[in-house]
Parts: sequence; structure tokens; C-alpha cells
Amino acid sequence: MKLELKHSLSVKLLRVVLLSALIVGVVLSCAQIVFDIHKTRQAVANDANRVLDMFRDPSTQAVYSLDREMGMQVIEGLFQNDAVRMASIGHPNETMLAEKSRPLQQFPLRWMTDLILGQERTFTTQLVGKGQYSEYYGDLSITLDTATYGEDFIASSVIIFISGVLRALALALVLYLIYHWLLTKPLSKIIEHLTQINPDRPSQHQIPLLKGHEKNELGVWVNTANQLLASIDRNTHLRHEAENSLLRMAQYDFLTGLPNRQQFQEQLDKILVDAGRLQRRVAVLCVGLDDFKGINEQFSYQTGDQLLLALADRLRGYSGRLGALARLGGDQFALVQADIEQPYEAAELAQNVLDGLEAPFGLDLEDIRLRATIGITLFPEDGDSTEKLLQKAEQTMTLAKSRSRNRYQFYIASVDSEMRRRRELEKDLREALAKNQLHLVYQPQISYRDHSVVGVEALLRWTHPEHGMVPPDQFIPLAEQNGTIIALGEWVLDQSCKQLREWHDLGFSNLRMAVNLSTVQLHHNELPRVVNNFLQMYRLPPRSLELEVTETGLMEDISTAAQHLLSLRRSGALIAIDDFGTGYSSLSYLKSLPLDKIKIDKSFVQDLVQDDDDTTIVRAIIQLGKSLGMQVIAEGVETSAQEAYVISEGCHEGQGYLYSKPLPARELLAFLKQADRLKSLTM
Ligand code: C2E
Ligand code: CA
Ligand code: CA
Repeated sequence: MKLELKHSLSVKLLRVVLLSALIVGVVLSCAQIVFDIHKTRQAVANDANRVLDMFRDPSTQAVYSLDREMGMQVIEGLFQNDAVRMASIGHPNETMLAEKSRPLQQFPLRWMTDLILGQERTFTTQLVGKGQYSEYYGDLSITLDTATYGEDFIASSVIIFISGVLRALALALVLYLIYHWLLTKPLSKIIEHLTQINPDRPSQHQIPLLKGHEKNELGVWVNTANQLLASIDRNTHLRHEAENSLLRMAQYDFLTGLPNRQQFQEQLDKILVDAGRLQRRVAVLCVGLDDFKGINEQFSYQTGDQLLLALADRLRGYSGRLGALARLGGDQFALVQADIEQPYEAAELAQNVLDGLEAPFGLDLEDIRLRATIGITLFPEDGDSTEKLLQKAEQTMTLAKSRSRNRYQFYIASVDSEMRRRRELEKDLREALAKNQLHLVYQPQISYRDHSVVGVEALLRWTHPEHGMVPPDQFIPLAEQNGTIIALGEWVLDQSCKQLREWHDLGFSNLRMAVNLSTVQLHHNELPRVVNNFLQMYRLPPRSLELEVTETGLMEDISTAAQHLLSLRRSGALIAIDDFGTGYSSLSYLKSLPLDKIKIDKSFVQDLVQDDDDTTIVRAIIQLGKSLGMQVIAEGVETSAQEAYVISEGCHEGQGYLYSKPLPARELLAFLKQADRLKSLTM
């Protein structure tokens, strides 16, 4: 920034000083000139008096002796003085003894001096005798021409005026130089340094102290400005830091430090652009933990957080193969495999992740196992945008979870329509009860002591007006989600108890009814009261109603579950643990819960004989049940080989297609009667 010279402070000062010095100079010069006028007038009078004094005696002599010649000599003597224009000696009443005059001198500025000093001035002295009586003889008078004085006066006035103005000019110049040297120049230097300051790092360039100005106002100014710049710098730095951490917070997950959903979407956007250009495949894997809620409740939220952290670290182990990794929220993570050739590569990664979870997480002296379900979408097959790929991967994951867990699943176009179907079903399910679309079927349970039918399991059926039979595996999770399970469950309890009463009245008075309880029901506070009501309403004997609860249901909130189970048992109901072996339950929990029966999950029973592992598991479960004093029932028994094995291991009861599929009430009654007949025949 260059200042224009005419705007410079020193030039402004120069102007002001010059003007005021000129005014003062002119005024002072004028005063001096006025004083000079006075002095010149005085000088005229003094000169005249001196001349008169000098010539008084010879004049008196001439008048006294009436000597005309002498008078003329005196007059001539007077005229030696250039200023004398006229002179006379004589008595005023007589003709002059001697007199002479000459014209006025001429010079150019005469008109001016005449105005000031007058054209001429006349002085007269009396000529008196020296004797005792001082006799008056006449006058000597001279008239002085002011021209000579005027000329001198003009010359000195001009000198006074010019020197006054010159003095003023010199003073102004000196002042200007002092001011420039002391103020304007250092200021310009400071300005020059200021312009070099980088606004982003203001304290990087310090304004230097100017030599000789360290202690004065300029020094203080420079120091203050430097301090100010430093604190601006500090503040800017702090603001930058705050902005950066805000940015981090907006882009990264607070707990795990992984990118959050927003940041992930940006990363995936970029990956997709590249993949589109290079015509490569991309896989998006959405990882959702199975039953993380249960873990949070079983342990603590801190443990849950630690687990998520440990999981994030484990997932980071794959980052060499990943284009992006993020926590989408809660217990969901996303992985992107950029640049793959075949879908099986994504499947491999998914399986690796699942296998990686097999190793337990050692936290708080406790080994915790996590399981996850993974939904996979592929670019470009399943969608061409981040939103579509991510949304479908999440949908696929959710859907896969509702079927079975601990596995991965690829998105297929039908997933989308299935999601729609689920939403429709959910809506229809709310009206299913009122519209009489539900009914129960019953599946016999066989005692291996004498192969008699000791119980039946009530299983719910829904006949949808359009879709026909909807399997309970599909609609029970929907009912759990929207809460209709409470009403449905109550209806099932009511129906099955009523049915049992009917069969008891028909003579099958030892028959037991097993009813499935959903996790949601189990945690509903009204459940014990509802069960108790039905038992009393239908006058059912103790131990004739068996309630089946699942492992995961128990683990979700172990203390509430234990309380409810206790009060259910007090009403006389039996408690069976369903799908045993598929959850995480540990032995210590099993021992602490009031359970009567273990139901070995049908997946183990079905693979019996072919699969060594399952054979071992089934044997172990039966042993476990027996050692805890519980009844053990095998479900899903389809072949005599399976039956033979579970019997050989000491299993108490069995249920499965080998004996009967679930049957409507009327058919089940026939089945019971037939079994009775068979029994009486064999006896
Ligand atoms: P679950 O409690 O494990 O019920 C046993 C399931 O295995 C039934 O399927 C039954 O039909 C089937 N099954 C029985 N024997 C065999 C066999 O030998 N082989 C094979 N492959 N399957 C066999 P379903 O009726 O489709 O019920 C499925 C699930 O729906 C039940 O599993 C239960 O968890 C749930 N569910 C059914 N009814 C109700 C209910 O009233 N309330 C609640 N909360 N859940 C219910
Ligand atoms: Ca069951
Ligand atoms: Ca089961």
C-alpha cells in the first residue's frame, strides 16, 4: 500500500507550518516596518535639530551683523546636506537675510514614502544673542526633503520583509525535516512491516523495534501491536483446533474412531466413481451384531462399548483388503471391498469376518463371543449409487437376521419385494385376530418310556386371505416388532388352555399342553397374571401347561426373566427351554434359572448320525439336562435312526414328523384315540 505524497502527513504538516510561519513572518515584518516608520520620522527630526544646532552660531553671527554674504555662506553650508531642500535666515517680519531652495528629489517609490513620511518637513530655531539679555535676532529655518529617508526606509523594509519570509520558510523546512525524521519515516517503516504480515499466521512476522524509538510511544506501539498479533495468532490457532475437532466429530464415530455414516458415504461415493470409470466391481458389506442388546443387558453398557471397540480393532485388521470401513451406528458396521472381480471374493471376506468372530473377546475376565450377520450388495448389479447399495445391504442384513443368524447373505432383487411384503403382512397381521384368520395346530410329544403321547405343542397358523398359509417364522417376528404378539400370545394361551380342558374332559386327563412364549411376552409384566387366570379359568391341574421360552429370550434380561419364570412356576406351569444349543447360554445361568425341561434344537437332531459334531452336542445336552435334573426332549425327530440315537443317550421325550406333523384339534383327537387303541392292543 503506497501512500500518495500529497496525502502524506509530513506534507500536510509542511503546508500548515509554512502557512502559519508565513503569516507570523508577515505580521512580525509589518510590525517591524511600522516601528521603522516611527524611527525614520525620529531620525528626520534628529538630523534637522543637529543641523540647526551646528549652524545656529554662524547664523546668529550673520543676522547680528546683517552680513548677507555670510548668511549666504551659511546657507550654502546647509545645502551641503542633500536632505536640505530649503533654508532661510532672517527676521520673520523683514525680508530674509539669506535664503535658498531646490526642487524635490525624484525616485520611483516617492509617492509611497510621501504618504508615510510626508513630502518635506520644516524645522525652525530662534537666533538669540549670547549676552545677558538673550536678544532675539531672527530665525534659522530649514525644510528637509524626506526622499533620502524614504529611500533608506524602503530598502530596509524590503530587507525586513524578505528576511522575515525567508526565516519563516527556513523554520517550516526544519520543522518538516524533524517531523519527517522522527515520525513519518518510522511510521512508514512500520506500515511496510505491517503489509508483510500473513493474516493466517500473524505472529510469524514480528514488527521490529525501530532504532532510537525503543522507549517512546512508537516503541510502545510496536510492542503492543506485536502482543496483539501474537494473541490473534493464538486465538486463530485455538479456533482452528476447535474447527478441526468439530470436523472430526462430524466425520468420525466417537467411540471407535472409525468414519461415521456420513463420512463413509462420501468415501463410497468416490470409490463408486472410480469403479464406474474402471468398470470394476465393488462390494458393500453391512455387518450387524446378533443380539448385541442382549449382551449389553447381560453384562453392562461399558462392556458393550469395550466390545464394540475391540470389534472395530478386529475389523481394522482387514483394512488392507478394504476400500472403506465405518461404524454406521449402534451395532452396525460397514465394509467396502473396492475393485473385486467375482462376488465370491466378497463372500470370502464375509466368511473371514464371521470366522474372525469365533475367537472370543476377553473382557473383564470374561470371554464374550460375538456373532454377526452380514448383508452384501454388489456394484453395479444391485445399485449404482451409495444410497441404494447401502440401503439394500442393510435391508439384506436385517432380513437375514430374522431368518437365521451368524451368516452372510447377498442382496437379491427379491429382497426388496420381500421387504414390501413384510410391511404389508405386518399391516394385515394387526387385523388377523379380529378377522378369524388364526388357528392353532398341535404336534404330539412322545414319551420314550412307553411311547405314549404325553403332550402336544400348540403351534400358531395364519391363513392369509391372499397369500394363503403364512409360516409362523415369518409372522411371529413381525408381531414381536409391532407389539401385536402380546394380544396374539394371550389368544394362543386362551385357545390352547381351552382345548386342553376339552381333551382332559374327553378322558385324556394326563395330556400336557406346551405353548411357545415369545421374548416380548416373557418380559411383559402381565404374563404371570394372565397365565394364572387361564389355569384357574379352565381348572387345569398343575404341571399340565408347559411354557417354552428361548435361550436368547432368557438372556436378554436375565433378572426379569428369572422373576417371571418363578411366578409362572408358582402358578403350576412347567418351563421348557426351546431351541437349546443355538444361543449363548452358559452353564451358570442355566443352573440359576427355574427350568424343568430342555428342548434340543431340531438342527442338531436332524444332522445326527451324519455329523459327528452334532452327535457330540446332542449327547452333551442330554447329559447336561440329566445332571441338572431336567427333562430332555428332542425336537425334529424325523427318522428311526435319530430316534434310536436319542433314546440310547437317555433322552426322555421326542417330537417330530416321525410321530406326526402338527395337526388341527380334530385330527389330533383322532391321533390320540388311535394311539390309545394301539397301546391297549399292545398291552
Ligand atoms: P419351534 O417352537 O421350534 O416349533 C417347532 C417347529 O418345528 C414347528 O414349526 C414345527 O412344525 C417344526 N417341526 C416339528 N417337527 C419337525 C420335524 O420333524 N422336522 C422339521 N423340519 N420340522 C419340524 P412351525 O410350526 O413352523 O413353527 C415355527 C416356529 O414359530 C416355532 O418354532 C416357534 O418358535 C414359533 N411359533 C409357532 N407358534 C407360536 C406361538 O404360538 N407363539 C410363539 N411365540 N411362537 C410360535
Ligand atoms: Ca417350540
Ligand atoms: Ca424348537
